[in-house]
Amino acid sequence: MSVHRVITDFLFFRGRVALYHILRALGVGRGDEVVTQAFTCVAVPEAIMAAGAVPVYCDVEKDTFTLDPAALDDVISSRTKALIVQHTFGIPADMAKVVRIAREKGIPIVEDCCHALFSTYGGERVGTFGVAAFYSFEWGKPIVAGIGGAAVLNDESLRSRVEEVYSRLDEPPLLRSLKVRLQYIGFKLFYKPSLYWRVKALFHFLGRVGVLEGNYNPMGEEVPKDFGLKMIPSFRRLLSRGVASADRLRVHSMEVVEHYSRGISSARVRHPRVPDNCEVVYSRYPLLVEDKPSVVERARREGVEVAEWYATPVHPLRGADLEKVHYRPGSCPNAEDVCGRVLSLPVHTGVGDGDVCKAISFFNEL
Ligand SMILES: *Cc1c(COP(=O)(O)O)cnc(C)c1O
Repeated sequence: MSVHRVITDFLFFRGRVALYHILRALGVGRGDEVVTQAFTCVAVPEAIMAAGAVPVYCDVEKDTFTLDPAALDDVISSRTKALIVQHTFGIPADMAKVVRIAREKGIPIVEDCCHALFSTYGGERVGTFGVAAFYSFEWGKPIVAGIGGAAVLNDESLRSRVEEVYSRLDEPPLLRSLKVRLQYIGFKLFYKPSLYWRVKALFHFLGRVGVLEGNYNPMGEEVPKDFGLKMIPSFRRLLSRGVASADRLRVHSMEVVEHYSRGISSARVRHPRVPDNCEVVYSRYPLLVEDKPSVVERARREGVEVAEWYATPVHPLRGADLEKVHYRPGSCPNAEDVCGRVLSLPVHTGVGDGDVCKAISFFNEL
């Protein structure tokens, strides 16, 4: 798929750094608002706030986990400078409606394609509907290349503005690169679906004691240094290789999801809705369950990989930390409801037949 070549043009330290530079190139700054969906991760508001703007959250649809176009009117204001549209788990947002509303209001769309490398909407690949799109390559994303992100610019003038800034970015410091590279090697060596819970516990522990690169920077006043960095060079090479074999990922994901969606038939589990006119290539396969904490506990005991995110409307923030990123509790009821019920299953090429069967029986025996 040659389309993926464009993904390697502008490579940043992380996905959020790519988003930050897109927003800056759009002229987003102090006093502006950027609309994004709730049921996202802190990386997104982190980039918006680093650009000096205020994130404003739009609620989602409960069965697709993507932005609810009907809720957009209420959150767009005269200060809205950009709209970030996330294709959650690979499910495309309702782009016909979203694009129409954004056009009417004259607001540029930036697509968050961190979960969606291959999905199409109305025959068009996601990532081509807005002025720009961004991607992430850390673990849990379709292509894993350590840590890193990409910006794709669909607008010529935006592209030349990013090009200029990009040429002046720094390479990550050596020690930092080494630490992240070791982390990646550890992940490659130890992680497989059946060891998910153990590896996760180990990584959390190493993160807490400061040995590992955490996923979440503390929110401060200053723009974190990461926002001036390019992707680690050895990860750029991994990414090129990942991109070259991307079609294998797509095919594998579709096969695994076919099994999950036919095999899991428990009345206690809700499957996602595939929007009309879309081909969905999932990055993980989401399910809604009624008693999430007990299902998670059981999965941990039985060694079945289920991810819990997003467990909060701006994962993993809770309480006062949510307010720091301008999320008002109660403002996005669908997102909050889904956080309490969602789990997701892996679909990557390391997921074998045994893992698939185990996950299917696990859910059918709930
Ligand atoms: C992973 C992710 C990001 C940011 O990725 P980083 O590379 O960690 O900065 C942004 N949005 C979504 C939806 C993501 O899943």
